[in-house]
Amino acid sequence: MEFAAWSEIDIDALKHNVRKTRSLVGQDVKILLTIKADAYGHGAPRVARAAVSESIDMLGVATLHEGIELRCSGIEVPILILSPSLISEIDEIIEWDLTPTVSDLRFARALSFSTSAKQPVKVHVEIDTGMARAGVNEDEALEFIDNLSQLGGIMIEGIYTHFPTTYLEDPEFTTAQVERFRNLIDQLSARGLNLPLRHAANSAAITQYPDSHFNLVRPGGMIYGMFPQPDFNGIGLRPVMSFKSRIVNVKRVEKGRSVSYGRTYRFGHDAIVAAVAAGYGHGLSRALSNKGYLLVRGRRAPIVGMVTMDVTLIDVTDIPDVAVGDEVVIFGRQGDAEIGIYEVAKWCDTIAYEVTCGIGKRVPRVYIENGRVTGIVTLVGERLPKERIPLS
Ligand SMILES: *Cc1c(COP(=O)(O)O)cnc(C)c1O
Repeated sequence: MEFAAWSEIDIDALKHNVRKTRSLVGQDVKILLTIKADAYGHGAPRVARAAVSESIDMLGVATLHEGIELRCSGIEVPILILSPSLISEIDEIIEWDLTPTVSDLRFARALSFSTSAKQPVKVHVEIDTGMARAGVNEDEALEFIDNLSQLGGIMIEGIYTHFPTTYLEDPEFTTAQVERFRNLIDQLSARGLNLPLRHAANSAAITQYPDSHFNLVRPGGMIYGMFPQPDFNGIGLRPVMSFKSRIVNVKRVEKGRSVSYGRTYRFGHDAIVAAVAAGYGHGLSRALSNKGYLLVRGRRAPIVGMVTMDVTLIDVTDIPDVAVGDEVVIFGRQGDAEIGIYEVAKWCDTIAYEVTCGIGKRVPRVYIENGRVTGIVTLVGERLPKERIPLS
């Protein structure tokens, strides 16, 4: 099966990264894999299945529907919804056995009203120790949890906080957050409230702040082989995703002619220009216009002119024999050459996470394990016979 643009997901690399993470946190700490945004663009159902087979205990999504998608694909481990949920979502949260984050008493009362004491719904409480995105303010945390624990039909399974600066050099802010979070947990224990799961660490905290592991960690990026900052990847994680396309046209362009929208690039020499079948509609960012490189025949070819929705142009004047059908690597390896995700992120003035999240639904995900294709997931436009999309 050939595609004009596709993304390859290396399941062996993903499992390797889970094992690395496990070795960093030890056997006594649970691991919740953050699998929001379709597993950072890698495809949540298959990533979930591989991760669960490899010692991941829980999954973390951002929305109700991400949770439902995982349940529909047969995932049975606990699923925590990390973002605040709406009261209108409560019935489905219960129906699909998802664990909401609670940081609002009105929501908690509505939840309590919808459940029974016989079958309480599990919740986690988020405490804001510095992110100020969601969560209960620290100075209201004890009172909030007291109130919550009085409500019937609710079991407070966990308490957590989130770090805004773990990937930066300055440890002071994070260290203070860890300490205040620990104090709060101690104060709760003193009142007889021992909440089973206590967690804080994202990927960068897992590697940089062992004190922040508590008894559960929440890695996302590191399982996909990337960090918000490239410098933290000193522990031998393997990149999981690569993004590829093909040459669909090769043409001569004479000196002085311009290419693509806006005529932003003009050739100072007679050139050979190749058209690659991926554009910003696939997730090849328009920020790469006149800036980035793609790999073809094991060499770097500069992107010329504006990236368009469907097609990107590269200058292949110096690369002999480039032909229609040739494989192009947008990021990943080709022979001995490599364009890493961090490099693409830098060209786009963003972080690696946004690059993989941005790979669109137009792009089939091809899953590779033990050197062979074990599944292809296409979301748009492909009419694949069902047996080409094995579900297990
Ligand atoms: C996204 C997210 C994480 C994971 O962060 P990484 O840097 O990808 O490890 C952990 N916790 C929460 C609350 C998140 O939103």
